[in-house]
Amino acid sequence: MKSYEELLKNAKKNLPDKMQGGERFEPPRARVQLQGSKAIIQNFDIICQKLRRDPKFLAKYLGKELAVPSAIDGPRLILHGKIYERQINERLSNFIKAYVICNECSRPDTKIVESGSGVKMLVCEACGARAPAK
Ligand SMILES: [Zn+2]
Repeated sequence: MKSYEELLKNAKKNLPDKMQGGERFEPPRARVQLQGSKAIIQNFDIICQKLRRDPKFLAKYLGKELAVPSAIDGPRLILHGKIYERQINERLSNFIKAYVICNECSRPDTKIVESGSGVKMLVCEACGARAPAK
C-alpha cells in the first residue's frame, strides 16, 4: 500500500500541466456527534492528516469561527457548544479555501510558511505560487 505522499507524487508526475484531467481533490468532511452541549468531531485527526495541517491550527480556527472553546482529545476535537455538523463543515470548507487550496492551480499540495513579520503565507508545492493566507 502506497503512502499518501507517494500517491501525491505519482499524481503530480502524471499531470501533463496544471489541472488537466488529474485526480480531483476530495475535501474531507467532519463527522460530528452531539453530546449534550458539546459537539465532537470524530475524524479530526484524519482531516488534519489529509489537509496536512497542524491540528492545533485547525482547532484554533474552528473555535474562533464558531465562537466556542475547542479542545483536542486524542484523535477527536471537542467543541464546547451545541454546533451542528453542517455549521462545522461550512467552516471547514472555508478553512480549506483559505489555508489549503492554491489560488493559482487549485491543488491542495500547499504548506503554510510564516514570514519573519508573522504573516502566514500559503506556498504551493505544485506550482510554486505564494500568497498571503487570509
Ligand atoms: Zn499551485
